[in-house]
Amino acid sequence: RRLVALTERSYQSANKTALITDSHHGKTGADGQDGSYLCELLVGQGYTVHGLVRHHSEVHSQKPSRRMGTGAAVQHHYGDVLDPFSLIKILRLASPDEVYHLAAQSHVGLSFSTSSYTSDVDALGTLRVLEAIVALGMEKRVRFYNACSSEVFGDVKERVQNENTPFNPRSPYAVSKLYSYYTTVNFRDQGVFAVNGILFNHESPRRGMDFVTRKISRAVALIHHGRRCVLTLGNLNSYRDWGHARDYVRGMWLMMQQPEPEDFVLATGETHSVRKFVEEAFRMIGIDIEWRGKGVSEVGVDASTGRLLVQTDPALYRPLDVGYLHGSPQKAKEVLGWKPEITFQQLVREMVMADIRALEDGSDL
Ligand code: GDP
Repeated sequence: RRLVALTERSYQSANKTALITDSHHGKTGADGQDGSYLCELLVGQGYTVHGLVRHHSEVHSQKPSRRMGTGAAVQHHYGDVLDPFSLIKILRLASPDEVYHLAAQSHVGLSFSTSSYTSDVDALGTLRVLEAIVALGMEKRVRFYNACSSEVFGDVKERVQNENTPFNPRSPYAVSKLYSYYTTVNFRDQGVFAVNGILFNHESPRRGMDFVTRKISRAVALIHHGRRCVLTLGNLNSYRDWGHARDYVRGMWLMMQQPEPEDFVLATGETHSVRKFVEEAFRMIGIDIEWRGKGVSEVGVDASTGRLLVQTDPALYRPLDVGYLHGSPQKAKEVLGWKPEITFQQLVREMVMADIRALEDGSDL
């Protein structure tokens, strides 16, 4: 296998143009966690970056561009993956070399209560972007990245999951992502440079508040500031392979610079429980958590004072949950020369510290 290093790639990034579809619930294109990091990477590489913007009444807010730090460098266009005409217009206008399709209803828990909508956005949305590329006759020059997800492994069939592990999706979100996966493969088989990044969970201080890691880091920051008492969670015994989004967008970009389109897993190769994330996050503010009780009545208390800090609520359990994800980044290491640089402890620290700082300086969203 040919190892394409950043310095010696054949497919040059100078003067290239990228279109990012992102953040179906955000205020602007390229405003979601991954879109914003990807944007920074691409702008730094000299790309012209276009973002698909969903209409939102707060679209003129200054916050996203301030947070991204690249707001001015990104050209936003109104559109929606639910609207094929808007995709055709934006693709024609941006004329991209690379399309990073990140737009999704990305919350697994929410997909149970909005299953039809999630399928429309996540499954058919991917089809619409690919069909629009072909309808415009751009399929020979446009490279397409699909944000697939480790959720497709679901109730896992192998202890460590890689590109060859059988899929077993467990949520409307995962089923929709599997549709997007096979749609991407089918277009690739017809000659389009189309790749799936099967990304395990990736977090950062920009992660949405309704994902478990950010919910924990923010609650720990609030507790540190004496502003809230108890963190309420669902399943504490779920395991995830958590990496940092900044590392993962680099992997996405590397997939798009390869001579041939192929699918890759991006993961850290480590797995930790939600419980462990909670313990690690509290450790950052000098608190050791001691667990007491069992099942739904289990609580986490400050080991030195006995103060109640964590509780569980059955309402936060999902109808079906994925209990264990643990990925192998072996192929990405060998072929892309990619490896995650930010460790689990560094990730937790960065998230907790960022939330503490945001509360201090009032930039907290
Ligand atoms: P996901 O892996 O994409 O579903 O990412 P999440 O961060 O939403 O959830 C990761 C795991 O944490 C899942 O197994 C959830 O069931 C579990 N979990 C436990 N408590 C919570 C909670 O309060 N919110 C969320 N989002 N997940 C929770």
